Amino acid sequence: MSTSARPAPGTAPVSSASRASLRFGRGLTDDLMAFLAASPSPYHAVANAAERLEKAGFRQVEETEAWDGTTGGKYVLRGGAIVAWYVPEGAGPHTPFRIVGAHTDSPNLRVKPRPDTGAHGWRQVAVEVYGGPLLNSWLDRDLGLAGRLSLRDGTTRLVNVDRPLLRVPQLAIHLDRSVNDGLKLDKQRHLQPIWGLGDDVRDGDLIGFLEEEAGLARGEVTGWDLMVHSVEPPAYLGRDKDLVAGPRMDNLLSVHAGTAALAAVAGAEDAAALPYIPVLAAFDHEENGSQSDTGADGPLLGSVLERSVYARGGSYEDRARAFAGTVCLSSDTGHAVHPNYAERHDPTHHPRVNGGPILKVNVNNRYATDGSGRAIFAAACDKAGVPFQSFVSNNAMPCGTTIGPITAARHGIRTVDIGVAILSMHSARELCGADDPFLLASALTAFLEG
Ligand code: ZN
Repeated sequence: MSTSARPAPGTAPVSSASRASLRFGRGLTDDLMAFLAASPSPYHAVANAAERLEKAGFRQVEETEAWDGTTGGKYVLRGGAIVAWYVPEGAGPHTPFRIVGAHTDSPNLRVKPRPDTGAHGWRQVAVEVYGGPLLNSWLDRDLGLAGRLSLRDGTTRLVNVDRPLLRVPQLAIHLDRSVNDGLKLDKQRHLQPIWGLGDDVRDGDLIGFLEEEAGLARGEVTGWDLMVHSVEPPAYLGRDKDLVAGPRMDNLLSVHAGTAALAAVAGAEDAAALPYIPVLAAFDHEENGSQSDTGADGPLLGSVLERSVYARGGSYEDRARAFAGTVCLSSDTGHAVHPNYAERHDPTHHPRVNGGPILKVNVNNRYATDGSGRAIFAAACDKAGVPFQSFVSNNAMPCGTTIGPITAARHGIRTVDIGVAILSMHSARELCGADDPFLLASALTAFLEG
């Protein structure tokens, strides 16, 4: 599709004519909904991404083993992070990378070290607040519990109780007549979920219950990383079903699109002749600053890229050449214009749902995009036949940030911040357009192809 035939950024939904030429369609949105439902924790998200990559011929490599220089698709799993890459037949040791970056974690409530508590005949679970959730969105929902169990023998096991198990009950309006003037929630006192009745609360109750759920013997679990999730499945929404409501779109939407794009590029007939090494890097801990061994501010991505260069016989010079030619698209959700709060947005930048991916700009480097990065993203969208829009914050509003600036600064890699415009970011149930996931995946595919 030519540039002139493309709708001006942010002005129109994708026409059915241009849809026909796209790499992906609504089937990808259906798959995203299945991915969201099956990924209540970062550990589940990377396992589900790995499963999709395995189907596309990728194989897992262990960080503790020696790596070889063979071609094909590979991935590393570390906790709630995954880095996957495809080495084409024609790649040399200095071949640059094309990276799609994203994050696997979402704000929620996470289980404390001594979780068993309660009062006045209620059994409760002690939780901490992870990241910056819209706390009110967790009230009066049917909640499940999921995450990773660490066992006595040093192995780990995923667990997912995906049925109504817990609830953070609201106070009745009769007991707080001013609640609708502005709800105030104390993070310690007001967010502890109930999970049943009983006065005989004992240490080990919750973990014992999860051991049973996971088919493990009592006492086998010696560590846990557990979090609550809404058990309501994602759903199409609206008169024309052109919206999707669901959890964790920030940022599993990008993890899913990046996985689909990498699998598509690696599975293409001409994959052997790719000019770049396509990479997916999905990190944990973005919502609390990325500073961990699985976060974007750790050495994980750099270590994988460097080992890939050296495993193919490269020198430090080859590594430097490869990094200098590398580009990363950091993909994350952004804010669509909200009809009830339009004044909160920049008056000339109103990203619309189903208007295509957004290019995120902030001159103070809260986003890594610059003009040359815009040109790279525009070329990918043009090649894919996908419209894109620009996002910039209202000057009077603080701007969020992403893994983009961290990736750029830590590894010296050119980075462009992009994403998808949604509503209700950081709610337990967010809202996106039904077309934007496949428009993003189509643009990411074109970018990875080079
Ligand atoms: Zn995010």
